[in-house]
Amino acid sequence: MHLHDINTLLNLQGVFITHITEPIENTVYITLEPTDLHQSCSICGNIYTIRHGKSKPRHVRHLNLFENYTILILQTIRLTCSECGLNFTWEYSFEKTKSKYTNAFKNKLVKSIDGGTVKHSVKNLNVPYTSGERFIKEALSTIIPIMQNQVLDTAINSSKLAIGIDDFVIRKGHTYNTGIYDLRNGALLTVVRGRKYDELITNKNLCEIVNIVSPFAVVMNLAKIYHNFVKEVFPTAIRIADCFHVNRYITDALHSIRKRVSKKLNTYQSKFLKQNKKLLERRNDSLTKAEQTLLERILQL
Ligand SMILES: [Zn+2]
Repeated sequence: MHLHDINTLLNLQGVFITHITEPIENTVYITLEPTDLHQSCSICGNIYTIRHGKSKPRHVRHLNLFENYTILILQTIRLTCSECGLNFTWEYSFEKTKSKYTNAFKNKLVKSIDGGTVKHSVKNLNVPYTSGERFIKEALSTIIPIMQNQVLDTAINSSKLAIGIDDFVIRKGHTYNTGIYDLRNGALLTVVRGRKYDELITNKNLCEIVNIVSPFAVVMNLAKIYHNFVKEVFPTAIRIADCFHVNRYITDALHSIRKRVSKKLNTYQSKFLKQNKKLLERRNDSLTKAEQTLLERILQL
């Protein structure tokens, strides 16, 4: 393959290949030169610059070439602007100055996170964890606001919008956060740090959302704080306690009665009740004949 063809394959603007090595320990080294002789000044735009020669070339990682790691060897050309006197080094459009990775490589890393973890992505692409995490965070800081606007637009334009509000635990049970969901379109609208009334009502991001959406219904657990908050910010919305939370309260109450009853029984009866306690939680129409008989025996204790 000619260098020209590899140049086309690489698809990097403003450079051409002067040398390419055989794979060395699964790595191909490609030496590049700019196609132009001069680069205009980034401050005054002057195209007349003075070249001062080259410093040590830089190694920049690029997308893999046929299963081989690719290292681009970029010339560090020193220039001075003849108008404003700015000293600068040659800038390549496909990478940020002094980065060890091309923009295309960083994009690949960011895309590879989809549905996985940072740890998994950096391992797959053989990148140090701290660098990989930094690139992903940088990319997310621009992607997240765009996505948030999209989900908000969808929520605003929904008819009969139903919002969900629920807490979830982080830091192994030490901290609670609150998630606000668009249940109609299956999207997370925002996350609030904490789950207290004051934390919700003073949260700037949540207040902005509350001002522009008008839900038909809000689904939540039985926490009084959430009911008070929703009553305050969405006075016309129907408040719905979701069935899972109601069910848990009923189950908890059922078992506290079972324990109270159990204390009055003899050892054999109490053991029998404990062994079959799951039957009390089941729907009656889902029980087999044998289970129904067992249940009747339990209820007669
Ligand atoms: Zn200049």
